[in-house]
Amino acid sequence: MPLDVTKFKLPQQIEEYRKAVAEFVLSDLEPIANQIENTVKVPKEMWPKLQQSGLLRLTMPKEYGGFGLTYSQYFPILEEVAKTHGTIRLIVHTWNWLYYYQFLKYGSAEQKKLLPKIASGDHMVAWALTEPDTGTGLDLKMTAKRDGDSLVINGKKHLISLAMVADTFIIFAKTDPSAGRRGFSSLAIPKGAKGFTVIPQPDTMGLRGDPHGVVAILDFKNCRVPASTLIGPEGSGLDQALETLDVSRLSIGVTCLGLSQRFLDLSVHYAQRRTTFGKTLAERQAVQQMIADMATDVHALRLMTTDATLKVDRGLPCRKEAAMCKLFGIETVRKASDKALEIHGGLGFTRVFPIERMYRDARGPWLEEGTPTIQRSVIAREVLKS
Ligand SMILES: Cc1cc2nc3c(=O)[nH]c(=O)nc-3n(C[C@H](O)[C@H](O)[C@H](O)COP(=O)(O)OP(=O)(O)OC[C@H]3O[C@@H](n4cnc5c(N)ncnc54)[C@H](O)[C@@H]3O)c2cc1C
Repeated sequence: MPLDVTKFKLPQQIEEYRKAVAEFVLSDLEPIANQIENTVKVPKEMWPKLQQSGLLRLTMPKEYGGFGLTYSQYFPILEEVAKTHGTIRLIVHTWNWLYYYQFLKYGSAEQKKLLPKIASGDHMVAWALTEPDTGTGLDLKMTAKRDGDSLVINGKKHLISLAMVADTFIIFAKTDPSAGRRGFSSLAIPKGAKGFTVIPQPDTMGLRGDPHGVVAILDFKNCRVPASTLIGPEGSGLDQALETLDVSRLSIGVTCLGLSQRFLDLSVHYAQRRTTFGKTLAERQAVQQMIADMATDVHALRLMTTDATLKVDRGLPCRKEAAMCKLFGIETVRKASDKALEIHGGLGFTRVFPIERMYRDARGPWLEEGTPTIQRSVIAREVLKS
């Protein structure tokens, strides 16, 4: 059944929209999720469904064709989307922040023209920080050297989502290697720039589906671009990356919440129906303990993400809280996925239930926006600052 966000008078009916999205996930997106898993390809009908449902323009400000939802309004919707295929969730998550934030806050008038096209889903963006031979942050090797009104880019990025379909690539490179954190800049490179090639990488454990689920290498060899491709002032790249990652990490926490809630719901449903030795699993104390632990973690994660979301909506700093939500979120979903598998027994290991796919997809958030170690470093740095 088509879902059209324009039928909901926001924000009053936002809760109705969330419920409609929850139904849409099961009626329209789950069949697509199964198709992706069976064929390892994203079917053509997925994209118009995402565009028409409004899921790609929920947080974009109204002046650029979005619905201007606050994060308190948007995250309950992301939580519903996170219950289906990881690739679909990744698209909704990236579209509602990662792929537009820098253009909105730092972009030139020309770059801002992309915003309505991103909101409508007609322009695809990839966001590229990770490199094959270095760590992220100050360790980056990619360079963008000034040559008059041009910049010449050399280096590689890898593991970049949506690179196979993107029209514009937001990249981070050193414009002045001697200037420390002020030596980083961010650029928006158009697909097909001379000296820039995109090379697909091998299939992934989860978040699958060619071409949207394929991660890729971005290879720049003396790629000359105009200085107008810089996003914001030269030297502000690291600040832009960190600001973008704050909300993005919180989105990963919300993703883990949606996945964990679904692992819990599926486990409760199964435990109430499966009978062994004359009793349902739900009647067994051992299974009840697992359900209780899952429900407790989900509740704690919900409170943590709600608290951090209110900070974002008020424009308050949330670097530490966002990293905590992501760290606690991936641990919650890890435990929930293990317990759900245990409760489902052998059938959980088959494709009879979505548990098998969700178990693999749930490992994606471990890496997106930085590993647990990196989250701990961010949290420790913030705590030790005070
Ligand atoms: C499906 C998928 C999609 C992705 N999409 C994108 C994308 O769109 N854009 C993008 O930029 N990146 C993307 N990535 C990359 C992802 O962000 C990185 O894989 C992740 O941040 C980890 O970095 P790495 O792979 O370089 O691991 P490494 O940095 O090599 O880390 C390996 C291990 O060593 C630890 N480690 C590393 N450095 C230190 C240190 N200094 N101290 C202690 N421990 C350390 C790490 O915690 C980790 O456990 C994607 C990855 C995947 C799997």
